[in-house]
Amino acid sequence: MAAHPNSRGTGVRIGVHAGGEDPVGDAVAVGASAVQVFLGPPQSWKGPSFPHPEGAAGLREQAAGLGVDLWVHAPYLINVATTNNKVRIPSRTALVKQIRAAADIAALGLVVHGGQVPEGEDLAAGYANWAKAADAAAEVMVQTGLPVLIENTAGGDNSVARTLDGIKRLWDAVGDRGFGFCLDTCHAWAAGIDLPEAVDRVLAITGRIDLVHCNNSRDEFGSHRDRHANLNEGQIPVADIIETVRRANAPLILETAMEGQPDDIATLQSALSSH
Ligand SMILES: [Zn+2]
Repeated sequence: MAAHPNSRGTGVRIGVHAGGEDPVGDAVAVGASAVQVFLGPPQSWKGPSFPHPEGAAGLREQAAGLGVDLWVHAPYLINVATTNNKVRIPSRTALVKQIRAAADIAALGLVVHGGQVPEGEDLAAGYANWAKAADAAAEVMVQTGLPVLIENTAGGDNSVARTLDGIKRLWDAVGDRGFGFCLDTCHAWAAGIDLPEAVDRVLAITGRIDLVHCNNSRDEFGSHRDRHANLNEGQIPVADIIETVRRANAPLILETAMEGQPDDIATLQSALSSH
């Protein structure tokens, strides 16, 4: 892999999630070579909108000019798995809009959570709903060349992509339609999936890990809680995070507190450059 000027020769692209008005600037400021953004308010059906004064083209050109890769995280409201029509129907529409918007900024992928069914309902309905949503999404993925990456989530027995068994059922539902996978280390830990073994076990199901959300956790193993921590400040042993990242061999996005991101990046760079 060619070394990027910002990657300092480690080979793996290390990025950060940035939620402000100048995400590319924020990424460069902490020494990252990629940035994950929201295209619109994460807790709203509004959007897509673009965090740049000149819109999609402005954001795309700024990132390209600085050699920063762009990734998009879909709004948290999107839940194509749910049996609640008032959420599922707008979720499908919003997902397609987000794919197009992510393609407009030449992002490398759109991350979306697996979602959940309402408390007490059968998870089977969630996988069936994913199968239905997958056709429309796959069509736009083909048109735009923009992959949707489904992310494992931390908590709740009603979540469709929490356990390895859930991920297997989800992959059976979406089939061979070109979906990718985003492995979140904090979510896996919270869900009780051992790291770094998670990598091989997920790969055995999905055949691919396109992106790693590289986060430590403030809570204990199997807590079902989704509270990210900077890499050296959480309960996951840092060595396990490093080994997970090494085995996944995919680009990284830190969804950690910005103040600690320069230290997170330094930790990853020194661990990944030494053999
Ligand atoms: Zn994540």
